[in-house]
Amino acid sequence: MEQQKWFDSPEFEAEFHWDGPLGAELCREETVFRLWAPTAQSVELSLYRQGTGEEAAQTHSCLRQEKGVWVCRVQGHLAGWYYNYAVTVDGVTRRTADPYAVACGCNGSRSMVADLRSTDPEGWDDDRSPARQPEDIIWECHVKDFSYDVHGGFDEADRGKFTALCRRGTTLDGDGVHPTGLDYLRHLGVTHVQLLPVYDYGSVDESGSESQFNWGYDPVNYNVPEGSYSTDPHHGEVRIRELKQAVASLHQNGFRVIMDVVYNHTYSLDSWLFRTVPWYFYRQKPDGSPSNGSGCGNDLATERSMVRRYIRDSVRYWAREYHMDGFRFDLMGLLDAPLMEQIRQDLDLEFGPGVKQIYGEPWSADETFARPGTRLCGKDRLKQLPQSIGAFCDKTRDAVKGGLGQLDRGFVNGGGLEPAALRQCLGGCTRGPGSMFQSPEQAISYLSCHDDWTLWDRLVYTLDPERAFPDLKPQVLRANRLAAAMLFCCQGHLFFLSGEEFGRTKLGEKNSFRSSPRLNRLDWTRAWQAEELVDYYRGLIALRKQLPGLCDKSITAADRVRSVELLGPDCVGAQVENGGRWKTLYLLFNAGEAQTVKLPGGQWQILANGTNSFRWQQEALCSAEVRMPASSALLLGR
Ligand code: CA
Repeated sequence: MEQQKWFDSPEFEAEFHWDGPLGAELCREETVFRLWAPTAQSVELSLYRQGTGEEAAQTHSCLRQEKGVWVCRVQGHLAGWYYNYAVTVDGVTRRTADPYAVACGCNGSRSMVADLRSTDPEGWDDDRSPARQPEDIIWECHVKDFSYDVHGGFDEADRGKFTALCRRGTTLDGDGVHPTGLDYLRHLGVTHVQLLPVYDYGSVDESGSESQFNWGYDPVNYNVPEGSYSTDPHHGEVRIRELKQAVASLHQNGFRVIMDVVYNHTYSLDSWLFRTVPWYFYRQKPDGSPSNGSGCGNDLATERSMVRRYIRDSVRYWAREYHMDGFRFDLMGLLDAPLMEQIRQDLDLEFGPGVKQIYGEPWSADETFARPGTRLCGKDRLKQLPQSIGAFCDKTRDAVKGGLGQLDRGFVNGGGLEPAALRQCLGGCTRGPGSMFQSPEQAISYLSCHDDWTLWDRLVYTLDPERAFPDLKPQVLRANRLAAAMLFCCQGHLFFLSGEEFGRTKLGEKNSFRSSPRLNRLDWTRAWQAEELVDYYRGLIALRKQLPGLCDKSITAADRVRSVELLGPDCVGAQVENGGRWKTLYLLFNAGEAQTVKLPGGQWQILANGTNSFRWQQEALCSAEVRMPASSALLLGR
């Protein structure tokens, strides 16, 4: 308790806050190692020729300098050498890698001195992110899921690796006809790829079998790519180059890249951060045990100045060194608001206002024990944050397909929907009771992500008594299309789990974070079996980009949503002031039986119906009244 108060105190910050260099710095004739460890009595540096195995080739004592920074200057340009420290605090010596490491050996317990310029792929200086399109449509994908399927047509060496994100021309079983991978994604038309964690995490043995799998929400080295996604985890420079190549490839193929970052907790409390400055980086309960708002055993104390500095440095590093276009903050509800505001400012200052996108999960798993008075980024606080800090909208997600329970129902699976709730969803959850956002600029509208059941599996649980997850049953497909049509009519940035567009199933598994890669992989055969559903998403993606009224991100955007009303049993409709090619939209969603609906006056062009979302390419008109099939959407423009 005493130590906690000291770490939280302005006196500690005044005495030890350090803004100077940390990590390993390559100079012309020497290499300088700097570690911030203000509570240590001694620090020793060990140097190795290999990332694992054999004894240290050299050891050196570090000298304590100002602000608790320990420094060691070693003769020679040590690029390619591995290193770690022995840090002694209160008589206990702990072996630790460098929290500021940018490279490491296999499994990350030895840091590596890297000459980063030598890791740049050819043409890296000319790598440019594609321009933003009228709408952000974010596709969330795990590196291994993307290419693990043996039917994906990837070379064996690329399966599950960063390099698969660099391959064009892959087809289903190599048939030359049905694109998979990048070519499939180009055809789909999404604008952003959000990668599940690609920093170094701890739950997969990098020297172990390819059949291991984890989502990777267990950070070990925050500033190093994960080794199991590289073709060679034993040479620290390889993973760096291969992730850069993947980013460059995604850029060249028209996608912006969002990185999933987990600054709320570490793989275990016994981390490099802990071993360097015991407890400083972690929140504690009054009894001294670790705070566990993350549900993962520990919470970082982001409100402390050197923790904040660490996270800000890390985000800037990924943006600068790896050209990441944005960041998705895991459990942002555990991070403090001043931190997020400073990250926003840092990125705006270096790259231009709003150029790098940031958004996060506005919740946590449990209560956290931050310094008293800390403002956290929970749902109720989003309106006080800058609009350019976004968050996931669980209201739309739950209204359309149901809440967190397996059998919970939303509109498309028989849960009903009040017009007021539809209005709130369409307006990006900026108005009405419990609204979360100032404007749709802040809203990430979505139905599914890696967490919880896939949209398909949820629909099967609630609509198919046989629970035949793999079967593409008509009633589930209808509900899926209706759900997708609703999502694509909601203001806010759009987001979906990779494969939602082909009825991705995890066979009813809710939490597949460490399930087999066979269960988690994108099933490219299914992607083509469900081609009609993919086409439905494709049409909606292309249509959305032409609907300025729905893409509007201003604070007044929700005013465009007019006259939302119940049109029949389980049938709702809304008019939206669009502008552009269609001045007014009339959006109808029928979750009930087939019914006839009266239309407002004039001729309406059919933009999408329950089965075809490319109708806007034809001149199909309707007026007076229309027949809506069971479980279908109808999007009209005038
Ligand atoms: Ca790892």
